[in-house]
Amino acid sequence: MMIGDGMDLQLKGKKVLVTAASKGLGMACAQLYAEEGAQVWIASRNKQQLEQAKQTIIHQTGNAQVEAVMCDLTKEEEIKQLFAETGSIDILINNIGGPPAGAFDEFADQDWQQAFERLLMSVIRTVRAAAPSMKDRQFGRIVTITSSSMKQSLDGLLLSNTFRPAIVGLSKSLSQELAGDGILINSVGPGTMETDRIRDLYQPAQIQQLGENIPIGRIGQPDEFAKAVVFLGSGANTYITGQTLVVDGGSMKAL
Ligand code: NAD
Repeated sequence: MMIGDGMDLQLKGKKVLVTAASKGLGMACAQLYAEEGAQVWIASRNKQQLEQAKQTIIHQTGNAQVEAVMCDLTKEEEIKQLFAETGSIDILINNIGGPPAGAFDEFADQDWQQAFERLLMSVIRTVRAAAPSMKDRQFGRIVTITSSSMKQSLDGLLLSNTFRPAIVGLSKSLSQELAGDGILINSVGPGTMETDRIRDLYQPAQIQQLGENIPIGRIGQPDEFAKAVVFLGSGANTYITGQTLVVDGGSMKAL
């Protein structure tokens, strides 16, 4: 006897927007959505990189339904323009480049304000733009890519440690407000995944060392992260909302 409808992700014909998707984790998510037959929109700031990412995704997945829109997610007007171009979407994957590293004494008010705009306001604005049409259709999935710092602080990343947990609080409240309209919202935090972000923060020898200290014995690959995001942001996820998931190879010891 069948107990359900299997693990069909139910992504064919679904319209997905992945922000900050010209490389790294965002691009890996966009690629997996394309593989699963979704109609994928990618957004980020650099036109050339974005176009290159679009062509790579089309080439590697054979899915030509990939659109690219330039958008700086720290700018309210550009987010409005992005949604004017995409129209209504079914699935929103929030992503944006991380804030600079540093300790308390190194940051002035302006740095705090920029991190607030970058990490928190970008999510508030994209959800504000995406939610009304999701409500109309009584279906929506929202996943925000954060960091393991949403659960456990990271040394030397004070801005991340402050604003990533704020996204968790926001998402929990939104999950309560939106569940009745069929909209599920979750946050997924990478531990250490091999992208330019990690190559910018650490030297190769440090990356090797980081991997050795992870229970699974290595740092993660972007596609390993994307699988978690794509499941939570799919029609196969029907009952998980308001949750935070860390994809970290077992690094975090907190329950
Ligand atoms: P990455 O540097 O490889 O890619 C970042 C992407 O964001 C690029 O496509 C870039 O163009 C885009 N972007 C940056 N600022 C933008 C803006 N203002 N508007 C639009 N697009 C913008 O980074 P990644 O490793 O893929 O990381 C993605 C997110 O995950 C970041 O917030 C990062 O801090 C966080 N994170 C990553 C790791 C990891 O191990 N890779 C760990 C913890 C947290």
